[in-house]
Amino acid sequence: MKILIADSMEKEAVSEIQKLGEVILVPNDLKAAIKDADILIVRSATQVNAELLSHAHRLKIVARAGVGLDNVDKEACEKRGIKVISTPGASSNAVAELALGMMFAVSRKIAKADFSMKKKTWIKKELSGTELEGKTLGIVGLGRIGAMLALKATALGMEIVYYDPRTPNSTLGRQVNLNDLMALSDYVSLHVPLTPETRELINPAAIAKMRKGAVLINTARGGLVDEEALYLALKEGKIAGAALDVYPQEPYTGKLCELDNIVLTPHIGGSTKEAQIRIGKELIEQLKKELK
Ligand code: NAP
Repeated sequence: MKILIADSMEKEAVSEIQKLGEVILVPNDLKAAIKDADILIVRSATQVNAELLSHAHRLKIVARAGVGLDNVDKEACEKRGIKVISTPGASSNAVAELALGMMFAVSRKIAKADFSMKKKTWIKKELSGTELEGKTLGIVGLGRIGAMLALKATALGMEIVYYDPRTPNSTLGRQVNLNDLMALSDYVSLHVPLTPETRELINPAAIAKMRKGAVLINTARGGLVDEEALYLALKEGKIAGAALDVYPQEPYTGKLCELDNIVLTPHIGGSTKEAQIRIGKELIEQLKKELK
């Protein structure tokens, strides 16, 4: 059995996968390597489209290590009889913790404080922050990650409102429409998948409804936010801050990098040792089931 891992994965996950067969890790020429692969494993970077699949002669399974299948053309896979699997729950806690960490990072200006210390400057007066306790957190998408974040934020004394028409009457928070969520929240955190319906859900009109002093957190997908509208809102001080882990194009080097009131991370939501071990284990279980 030949297993092709197209995107870099932590060694904990790779060693789990090696239990199933010969592993080819991040080849230089993916189209050549996919020719005789039985299983293709990707994270979010590799685009699994019809063109790539046309080079595969034996492929039976495309496995997305993580959640979010927006980089996999499921129809093209289906047409070729290739099964698509993923590990939806394995990275939920890691992403929820990152979202929470980003809320702290923006509110206490942790990144700016660290940067200034390393430049050997003491700018204590510029680093007064705000607290999470008593503030309202608006969660857009109360699925696996959104629900975990709601529980953690509740424990910190935050009030939860959420927008997710498909999860009505949750006890984790108060359901509101998106306009009200944007207007009520001190922190807005995005946890919906990227679909035609959610693309640029956070557009100029939605941002205009946000409180002055609010913070936007996006650990879901870059395409959910209108980048230009966010840039202007941050530059003009319409909102206090933002933190992003995901971008419309990755790697991201765009103009949001120029701003002081934003915290940026390079798509590390699922990159914890624990999540990678869970991803590896979940993948193995699913692959074994499929290969029976
Ligand atoms: P999930 O369990 O599927 O939760 C998403 C929730 O949003 C579901 O309840 C879903 O309802 C709801 N939803 C779908 N469309 C909506 C809309 N238009 N408006 C409001 N709610 C809507 O997904 P998850 O595991 O929490 O993951 C959320 C997203 O996080 C993923 O899609 C992925 O893009 C991102 N993610 C990022 C990282 C990272 O490394 N930064 C890692 C993992 C995941 P239905 O179930 O009915 O569709």
